[in-house]
Amino acid sequence: MNRRKLVVGNWKMNGLKAHLGEVEAIGGIAADHPGVDVGLCVPATLIAAAAQVRGGAFIGAQDCHMNASGAHTGCLSGAMLAEAGASWTIVGHSERRQDQRESDGDVAAKALAAKAAGLNVILCVGESLDVRDAGDAEAVVSAQLLASLPEGAAADWLAIAYEPIWAIGTGRIPTMEAVDAMHRALRDALASRIGGQAHGMRILYGGSMNGDNAAELMAIADVDGGLVGGASLTAGKFAPIIAAA
Ligand code: PGA
Repeated sequence: MNRRKLVVGNWKMNGLKAHLGEVEAIGGIAADHPGVDVGLCVPATLIAAAAQVRGGAFIGAQDCHMNASGAHTGCLSGAMLAEAGASWTIVGHSERRQDQRESDGDVAAKALAAKAAGLNVILCVGESLDVRDAGDAEAVVSAQLLASLPEGAAADWLAIAYEPIWAIGTGRIPTMEAVDAMHRALRDALASRIGGQAHGMRILYGGSMNGDNAAELMAIADVDGGLVGGASLTAGKFAPIIAAA
């Protein structure tokens, strides 16, 4: 199965209008790599302005509420994000699962709501260091994925990001063998639920991906791209990752 590589920056709570030049530069690099899908998930406050200068990159959000509208102070619906200029959203990032106490069920509901608004979705899963050290990572993350997977999950609107929590922002990554084993386990888990669709679904690696390790990570058969935090904040650091895809 020939899956197009997908490389997405996650700016988290970083970025003001002063940083739109980086969006524009990254959009230009994306345009120079038409064989790769490149995107930037910026803070919601920047979506509209980023969409104006996005070049060959798509603009995404970092979260999407599970309801279409209503009494949810401070939250944003899929339709709002789409109207602002987002075409993708992340759901279930470990920082939100932890800080906002999002459950697997919440994550599945958010993915469905985003899909209903016409957004594509990156659904994040990943284990803690305790789970990794206990040797349970593949079983635990596979179960987390199946519990978070929305109804109607399909390769044309959903991608998965495997992000070991202990690798996020730490400069540490699993061994290539561990990444390979996890991505194969996740594809098997997907196949158990959605059959042949699993072979077309992109499974990204995330957690301290950078210009030095991206090529080796993305050469793994079941690694279909990356979800990149710190190294996506500037075009200079993101460019080699896009090139490695
Ligand atoms: P990092 O973050 O690349 O800074 O480790 C990745 C993420 O949390 O999406």
